[in-house]
Amino acid sequence: MAFHLLTIILVIVGLLSSFGSSFDPSPFQDFCIAANESKAAVFVNGKFCKDPKLATADDFFLAGLNVSGNPLPGLGSSVNSVDVNRLAGLNTLGISMVRADFAPYGLIPPHTHPRATELIVVIEGTLYVGFLAPDTTNPMKTRSFTKILSKGDVFVIPQGLIHFQYNVGHTNATVFAAFNSQNSGLIVVGSELFGSNPPLVDDVLSKAFQLDKKMVATLQGLFS
Ligand code: MN
Repeated sequence: MAFHLLTIILVIVGLLSSFGSSFDPSPFQDFCIAANESKAAVFVNGKFCKDPKLATADDFFLAGLNVSGNPLPGLGSSVNSVDVNRLAGLNTLGISMVRADFAPYGLIPPHTHPRATELIVVIEGTLYVGFLAPDTTNPMKTRSFTKILSKGDVFVIPQGLIHFQYNVGHTNATVFAAFNSQNSGLIVVGSELFGSNPPLVDDVLSKAFQLDKKMVATLQGLFS
């Protein structure tokens, strides 16, 4: 009897582990539409791999993180991102990084990375950073987790949660952040909702955010 029970347990464990290894792979980008014609199939989930025999050191190298990157208009911040789209050697490695710079009171507005947790370290300045998470006792309510960070401080933002960074110091600030994805993704909440193309029907935004439609139109104008 004990033998049979052990056999059954082993079979169940074996089945579970084979199911576990047969899950679909995680997506490497926002979407990857199936193409029936091979001529149209120009993307895979991620990027094609170069023939290893043709690899060079430059495939693993990128210069330029000693300076700030592209400014975010009107926000006093800039982002210099190193993901698989800029550094081809990152393909399939599950990691990327970013440098962000802030003028005094500069902001990286509320956003999420759908495919990565973010680990920040402050190199210079003083930042108010935080993320939002559903209250486990009531999913319609939200908890905020915020800190004032100084030089050398580290903060982790769990995957997919809305977060921000705001320079509360009187000097410039610089952070570096690591992501556990080759292509973390970026969803900026305000522009995603109010700046989409084509715009969402105003009734959706009006009801969702309890705004009158004139205010919805104003916000759509600001973000588009
Ligand atoms: Mn982020």
